[in-house]
Amino acid sequence: MDDAPRCTVPIKLDVPGESRGDLHQTKDQFLHCANRTSDWAWRYDDYCITSKSKAEKALYGELREETNLTANLVQKGIRRAIEAVTGGVEKLKQGEKTSQPYFDSWSVVYDKRSATFNGDHATLSTPNGRLTAEYVLPPKDEREDTPFGRYYASDDWDASNATLQYDEQADEFYLHVTLKNPDYKVESEHQEVESRDEAPENGVVLGVDLNVTGAFAVTSTGEFIGSADSLTHKRDEYERRRGRLQQTGTRSAHLTIQSIGSRFLDWSLDWLHNRANDLIEEAHNADVDGIIFENLDHIRENIANSSKFQQWTSVTFVELVEYKVESTELFVDLVNPAYTSQRCSYCGFTHEDNRDDKHFKCQDCGYEVNADYNAAKNIAVRYCGYIHRGQKSRGGWATSQLALKSGTLNVNGDYTPTKLSG
Ligand SMILES: [Zn+2]
Repeated sequence: MDDAPRCTVPIKLDVPGESRGDLHQTKDQFLHCANRTSDWAWRYDDYCITSKSKAEKALYGELREETNLTANLVQKGIRRAIEAVTGGVEKLKQGEKTSQPYFDSWSVVYDKRSATFNGDHATLSTPNGRLTAEYVLPPKDEREDTPFGRYYASDDWDASNATLQYDEQADEFYLHVTLKNPDYKVESEHQEVESRDEAPENGVVLGVDLNVTGAFAVTSTGEFIGSADSLTHKRDEYERRRGRLQQTGTRSAHLTIQSIGSRFLDWSLDWLHNRANDLIEEAHNADVDGIIFENLDHIRENIANSSKFQQWTSVTFVELVEYKVESTELFVDLVNPAYTSQRCSYCGFTHEDNRDDKHFKCQDCGYEVNADYNAAKNIAVRYCGYIHRGQKSRGGWATSQLALKSGTLNVNGDYTPTKLSG
């Protein structure tokens, strides 16, 4: 994933002895801002404040007086706390235990207004003015193969912000610089504007359309996973064999039916496991935060005229994916499926004539595409719409993008090309 749109490069700093105290002081005051904000946001028994703008309004003036930090660092401290409080509220909503965030680990958040990131040094804002810290870098001829050489020193990447950290045992300071791919500039500026409100970050989701003919699962990135037709074929073979055995009516035939039945079940589960792994791999390749399906009730309903087996495979597949991502950063969520197959993912025009089996052609704008790929995009678009209308996503973002074949598209239709290949 060398071409991932964001990455972090840790850089050791050479901080002169007389300046080290300034950094510790910055950290103390920064954490003070975060902890004061956390106290403020968590002060009621049954209600937490998760609005960054409210917190800034209430606390910014006081914290400027209580500390010697620059405006930007005070603001970062407040935001850091509100993000943690918002995360806590999400946990409470899902019935998990949590407590008021308390900040005591050594860390300060910098961005371009409170720091400069230069070729061989950084300048960092402190309560006692700007401090210059040289980078401790690998030798020049070895640098190319390091994250510093590949990303930090590369023209393709821009340093956007950084976290200053301190290794207590070694008594060393490190700057963890976050770099963005310039292809994402448009999007990230858009994000800056949004983030004045409450949006912590952008999320990217993968829409998935499940089918009983053609490809089993089709993603909004244009991946066609597994063949539903071959699954059906395998099932039909099994049914025919069972039918023949049933006709013989003997006891040994009955036992054989049981044995091929459980073998077929094993085979199907194995197949679904593998397809779930394929899908999760695609989610990682596309660097998404969430995988979105149509809700399961619909899967049952929509294929009511299909076999019980086909209903079972779809429901089981979604459950397997949910189970597999449980311990990872990825989440699974569901959307209402109405008209996802009839809506044009390009212009939004919805009509039943738009779709003819696997072929989609928009009667309004003429957009022609594989029908399942079109549906998968609509599933992702719908999820983004939920977030726009303020319904909480599991990732907690306010704006959202869906992963597409060759870039990302947010719900406003701003297209961002990506260097990701394949
Ligand atoms: Zn259209």
